[in-house]
Amino acid sequence: MPSLRTTNGRGRLYESILDTIGDTPCVRVKIGVPADVRLYVKAEFFNPASSIKDRLAISIIEEAERDGILKPGQTVIEATSGNTGVGLAMVCAARGYPFVATMPTSVSIERRKLMRFLGAKVILTPKADKAIGCYKKAVELADANDWFLARQFESEANAKIHENTTAREILADFSGDRLDYWVTGYGTGGTFSGVAKVLRAERPETKIVLSEPANAQLIQSDLKQKRTSDGSPDGSHPAFEPHMIQGWTPDFIPAVLQESIDEKRFDLLVPIDGQDGIDASKLLAQKEGIFTGVSGGSTFSVALDIAKGAEPGTVILCMLPDTGERYLSSPLFEDVGEDMNEVELALSFSTPGFHLNE
Ligand code: PMP
Repeated sequence: MPSLRTTNGRGRLYESILDTIGDTPCVRVKIGVPADVRLYVKAEFFNPASSIKDRLAISIIEEAERDGILKPGQTVIEATSGNTGVGLAMVCAARGYPFVATMPTSVSIERRKLMRFLGAKVILTPKADKAIGCYKKAVELADANDWFLARQFESEANAKIHENTTAREILADFSGDRLDYWVTGYGTGGTFSGVAKVLRAERPETKIVLSEPANAQLIQSDLKQKRTSDGSPDGSHPAFEPHMIQGWTPDFIPAVLQESIDEKRFDLLVPIDGQDGIDASKLLAQKEGIFTGVSGGSTFSVALDIAKGAEPGTVILCMLPDTGERYLSSPLFEDVGEDMNEVELALSFSTPGFHLNE
């Protein structure tokens, strides 16, 4: 008999919720993976506001404080597809800054509500104006009010925090072990750029796999992103189509991502259909008890394909950027009902008491 499970605490006390960001676990997944291959997921939903973007949020605020460009009590503003906004809302609440998010109406309702619950103001922009419209609204509001614009798409603090935390954690957790593939998608490109830079230098044998939506293959298209003189995007990328993988691939190639594309810091570029991502997210939830969103499912689906064709002994790590709970109102939960289905009703009526009669 195995002994009863016990825990010992973390061996330290925390001064702030912000000190709990990072150090997320890499967890083995077996479903669909050949027995002689090891596939791990880096579970970023362990961050305090449940996504990888908590790392970026604390990094941008602390760098701006250090550089003196963010003044005590100054309002922070950012254009966000959701997770950055939730992360910044948490950091700003803990550090005493008012926070305003601009967000297209296309992202899920729960993200708006979460930010507002954390004390933020959310300014919605039309879906038709895409991410770039949302971005321009944030610039407009920042200029008009002298607010601090977080600039996740251009800030050096973005990739840097992944070099200094995400990548370091991967190096430490796989120290003395194989790591043949690291798989990720991109939104701002911060995760990819930061981790890939460190892996290239310190684990050059690790193949870096970058994925993008099958109907929005901006990188694969090889078409240049037009930019203004400050590096910000000047119009939508011609290969962009609206896709189902929230948080991935905005309608432009961010400056944070561009450098890593130019430096070719990836070995494989793999398209993934959003529906395959949704299916893989359900598989992870129902067969492994691992609860992640559509981008996590998409990354896992790409990793699973690699695992299926890999030679014995191969070790793969893929990123799971956020929690599935952020998608309750989205297509991820489309076929999950509120009322009892036929099977559940039959079970309910199979014993005499306590069943609903309406
Ligand atoms: N998945 C989700 C759900 C996200 O919100 C983001 C960030 N926009 C990403 C993936 C991609 O992360 P990054 O911005 O570091 O490329």
